[in-house]
Amino acid sequence: MMNPQQPIIVLKEGTKEEKGRDAQRNNIAAGIAIAEVVKSTLGPKGMDKMLVDSMGDVVVTNDGATILKEIDVEHPAAKMVVEVAKSQDEECGDGTTSAVVLTGELLKNAQKLIDQNIHPTIIAQGYRKAMRRAKEILEELSIDIKSNDKETLKSLVLTSLASKNASAEGENLSKIVVASVSKIIENIDNKMSIDLDNIQIQKVTTGAISDTTLISGIVLDKELENEEIPKKIKNANILLLNFPLEVRKTEVEANIQITDPSQLQKFLDEEERIIKEMVEKIKLSGANVVLNQKGIDDIATYYLSKYGIMSVRRVKKSDMKKLSKATGGKILANLEDISKDSLGYAGIVEEEKFGDAKVISIKECKNPKSMSILLRGPTDHIVDEIERALHDALSVVKIALEDKKIIVGGGATAAEIAMRLKDEAPIIGGRIGMAMEEFANALEVIPKTLAENAGYDPIDIMLEIRHQHKKGNKYHGLDIETGKVENLYNNAIIEPIRVGIHEIEASTEAAIMILRIDDVIASKKVEMNEKEKNDRYGNFNQY
Ligand code: ADP
Ligand code: MG
Repeated sequence: MMNPQQPIIVLKEGTKEEKGRDAQRNNIAAGIAIAEVVKSTLGPKGMDKMLVDSMGDVVVTNDGATILKEIDVEHPAAKMVVEVAKSQDEECGDGTTSAVVLTGELLKNAQKLIDQNIHPTIIAQGYRKAMRRAKEILEELSIDIKSNDKETLKSLVLTSLASKNASAEGENLSKIVVASVSKIIENIDNKMSIDLDNIQIQKVTTGAISDTTLISGIVLDKELENEEIPKKIKNANILLLNFPLEVRKTEVEANIQITDPSQLQKFLDEEERIIKEMVEKIKLSGANVVLNQKGIDDIATYYLSKYGIMSVRRVKKSDMKKLSKATGGKILANLEDISKDSLGYAGIVEEEKFGDAKVISIKECKNPKSMSILLRGPTDHIVDEIERALHDALSVVKIALEDKKIIVGGGATAAEIAMRLKDEAPIIGGRIGMAMEEFANALEVIPKTLAENAGYDPIDIMLEIRHQHKKGNKYHGLDIETGKVENLYNNAIIEPIRVGIHEIEASTEAAIMILRIDDVIASKKVEMNEKEKNDRYGNFNQY
């Protein structure tokens, strides 16, 4: 007999519904599976993943956000965990793997509680309470920094790079990262503002990573069209154009009919005259460099070169914008508007050679806030991975300067928060207290995984860390470089506070969201056979 109180949900034909514990267990398993994918990459001794897409393109990385971006995740709960990495990457640039690993552990421990018949709503309450406390404790454990403290900023970068293949080049790269961010600090309404768009990374696949340099200005991945063009201009007055320096063939063809050779000559002369006129205008303006988003005719290049004017055609639109910001020049859409005022300025514009590659650099710009990191390395794969590492490192310096607070890394802070929460949980008591305790246990996944990935026994290390923290050594953790449990603040293993806060927030919110789902209603998309299902859902036990 049907219970008359029971609501009746009418579903479309083919809709699949999974309820209660099965749905929950499935979602939790999917979330944990995602965390397992990236877990082995965490920390300085973490492994890399080789990702091969359907076109056969290969990416080698240990960057959590990149790995999860590349893999095709279908399970809806698993997608929520992928989102954690994405939001961590957007907000902080670093800490993506940690955030995902933590989400997985929170889910794993929640499953333990569910198995003891504790309701997900209670778990969610306990987790949320623990999250709030964790953030407070994190603030207490944080350390203030000064914006001119270059050494600390360098240590932040070195910690961030430590877990990347770039770590061997840490000295040079960290100096470059700190110097570049320091130069773009702006003060807007008495507030420090750092726009990382001012720093561009230009990759050149030749030479060694150690050849990477910081150029104050813009670097264009371009070379000069021919040998006649002057290679170096000092005190450059730069004309930025978005206008073709060529006679538009279609216009001309429509008007002129050529019937004999003398006419052809006349026509060519006319064309040359028009172009010469353009060049004269440019010369008159005082410009000695022309950077054009559109084309430049060979004849135009020839006359410009004769006047000692450097010209570069087909510059990328995005680079034109940066050039305008850097040199103070206006991007002109025609030659009528040309004037001395519209020109930009740079101390030097020159074509430079790096191994086989040539670039055009625009240095000593009017606006010194334009920076370029000329990233060099032997292969595309290596250069790409270093670029990802630099992306993390640049963000780390930015957010540390904005918040002016750092925390100790290497799982030391997580271990201290875990200990304090475990002390507080029994005072709260009951099931909420149990959930808080499991939250605390989950935090220990960070130091444990760092140790495990470096080949240590995670239990031994965790016992030693707990022992030290009980004695009041709140910054102790395993330094993977020395292999000892030590004061990691003294060892300069530090991170911006925002990375830690966001890791805790994003992972807790995602875990809670997944826990609270007790009903998965999926409408039928397409009929799939077993193999297709397997291909599509992989290990995530399709629901
Ligand atoms: P994420 O994507 O979370 O940043 P990483 O693979 O970059 O993951 O690893 C970062 C972790 O490695 C951080 O917890 C950081 O503090 C830690 N770490 C960096 N250097 C060391 C070190 N020498 N000893 C121990 N932990 C370290
Ligand atoms: Mg990192």
